[in-house]
Amino acid sequence: MDYIAPVSDIAFVMEHIAEWRRGLEPADLSVDDVTAILSEAGGFASEVIAPLNRPSDQTPTAWENGVVRTPEGWREAYLAWRTAGWNGISLPAEHGGMALPTILGSATMEMLSSACMALGTLPVLTQAAVDALDAHAAPDLKKTYLPKLVSGEWTATMNLTEAQAGSDLGALRTRAEPVGDGSYRIRGQKVFITFGEHDLAANIIHLVLARLPDAPAGTRGISLFLVPKFLSGPDDTPGPRNDVRCVGIEHKVGIRASPTCTMVFGENEGAVGWLVGEPHHGLACMFRMMNKARLATGLQGVAIAERAYQQALRHARERRQGRKAGSAGPVPIIEHIDVARNLLTMRALTDAARAIAYFAAAEIDRAADAPDSAARAAALARADLLTPVVKAFASDIGVEVTSLGIQVHGGTGYVEETGAAQHWRDSRIAPIYEGTNGIQAIDLVTRKLSCEGGAPLRDLLGEMQAIIQALRRASEPRLGATAERLGEALFALAGASEFLLSPSRSPEELLAVATPYLRLFGVALCGALLGKGVLHALPFAPESGQSAESYELRLAIVRFYAETVAVSAEGLGTMVRESAGAVQFGHSVLNAAAS
Ligand SMILES: Cc1cc2nc3c(=O)[nH]c(=O)nc-3n(C[C@H](O)[C@H](O)[C@H](O)COP(=O)(O)OP(=O)(O)OC[C@H]3O[C@@H](n4cnc5c(N)ncnc54)[C@H](O)[C@@H]3O)c2cc1C
Repeated sequence: MDYIAPVSDIAFVMEHIAEWRRGLEPADLSVDDVTAILSEAGGFASEVIAPLNRPSDQTPTAWENGVVRTPEGWREAYLAWRTAGWNGISLPAEHGGMALPTILGSATMEMLSSACMALGTLPVLTQAAVDALDAHAAPDLKKTYLPKLVSGEWTATMNLTEAQAGSDLGALRTRAEPVGDGSYRIRGQKVFITFGEHDLAANIIHLVLARLPDAPAGTRGISLFLVPKFLSGPDDTPGPRNDVRCVGIEHKVGIRASPTCTMVFGENEGAVGWLVGEPHHGLACMFRMMNKARLATGLQGVAIAERAYQQALRHARERRQGRKAGSAGPVPIIEHIDVARNLLTMRALTDAARAIAYFAAAEIDRAADAPDSAARAAALARADLLTPVVKAFASDIGVEVTSLGIQVHGGTGYVEETGAAQHWRDSRIAPIYEGTNGIQAIDLVTRKLSCEGGAPLRDLLGEMQAIIQALRRASEPRLGATAERLGEALFALAGASEFLLSPSRSPEELLAVATPYLRLFGVALCGALLGKGVLHALPFAPESGQSAESYELRLAIVRFYAETVAVSAEGLGTMVRESAGAVQFGHSVLNAAAS
């Protein structure tokens, strides 16, 4: 099998690193229930979805005269996915979902995205749209659209980007005019719209950002509209076609089967749409959707890294090359220590990205469901702080790990037949969409870090320091210098954070060092989270359910992370504190040379 869902790893992270049950009313779900759900979703992902991954890269989605045809096998696979109820696993029960915690839905999305990242981009958007509509739409819109979006019978899109408005949404020009009957007519063009058109669902519900006639300029003049592909017929079945059409799809580096559409709204009579939320507050409504989507994008980094690691490990066990002292013939390349180092790096980074993604998902659940309001507020503040880090750190890791996967394959990794290159190509989009990773870093240093004067960050650091103290006390010699290195990484993060929080920092300084700060945040926090996992596993007890082999691997990975990855934190800390001048100088020289 090409992909085996890492069910026990995910369950371990959920229970012992994310501690998803902490602070919530006791859930009806036992550990066995969770494992059973994960095994079911994992089996489906490996057996039904994963075999579609390669063929759908080779013969991707095609556009012809406004019609978008997805690859062979996708209709059946998507139908099976949604009829099994996976689309609505974490969506509200009142609209037909199962209302299970976000973290469980995240786990199913990780497995779907490992199996086929291109196909996984569809439910990500539908699920995020449900969240936005449930929070902001009028009751009649909810009644018409939510049940079918929750079941996945209809799908949704997120229409933000225009040719001149990518990172800067304030520049968008799509217009919306009221017609007096409560509806609006939308006119404009959107680009890069994921699954803007396709043949997997009976209707496509576009969430579109547009400007009302009296809108102020910039981001404060943007409203959100619901624009269906088909208007409602009797009994809410799809009726006449709306004035919206896909005029082409992009030819991309990766996720080639996920249609990236240019959408034209209102070429003729105007596309019929309805306002969602308050006029001019569309961006706030969309942000609700985008925050979930950002967690999902980080999870795509985890997912593609996991897939690449599994494939590289298999290859390294099978490929024989080079001799070792005493060997009769060529040995499997995994026996060469440099290959093992690459594999350990892949595994350690993947585990790190998974740790922070599930840790954030648990905070999102606590923010929604903790019994008292103070706990909900604290969890929300932490989830807000973590969201840009999860999105950027984990998606960058996806690219690094898939690139290492090619390296482990040698020359065969660089040719398409092995599929290693596809993982790398697929991974490359995640640092770009849902707000580029540069924009995430800016969000972290200019908004999230300074929330409540830095209190959520200090609270998080305190919790992580307690883990390091416990690791120092643990008597496991095979952990080597783990506690010291992870402690130093946290120290570097604390120092860099206080440096950035100081009122004497100028906005330009913050922007100049935002990206290394986000990396430092991810490196240090993930080290402590991996340490938390290993603490739980100590001392080894056969009755704990884990095998001696998985226990040893856990020790080896956290030590490897501490001594080879976390050590970069000190350099990153220096970069944050001392490199703004170098960046600003280079920036001015580059700009002077260009003018
Ligand atoms: C495959 C794919 C799927 C997509 N799906 C969707 C979708 O479903 N819906 C949708 O609305 N959009 C979608 N997008 C669009 C995507 O979100 C944008 O491409 C992204 O937000 C970046 O915008 P841009 O391409 O215009 O780049 P630009 O905004 O031009 O950015 C170019 C570079 O400049 C940097 N930059 C820009 N402004 C700043 C700044 N102020 N400070 C610092 N750096 C800056 C960026 O970080 C980036 O590195 C998709 C794109 C792709 C490729």
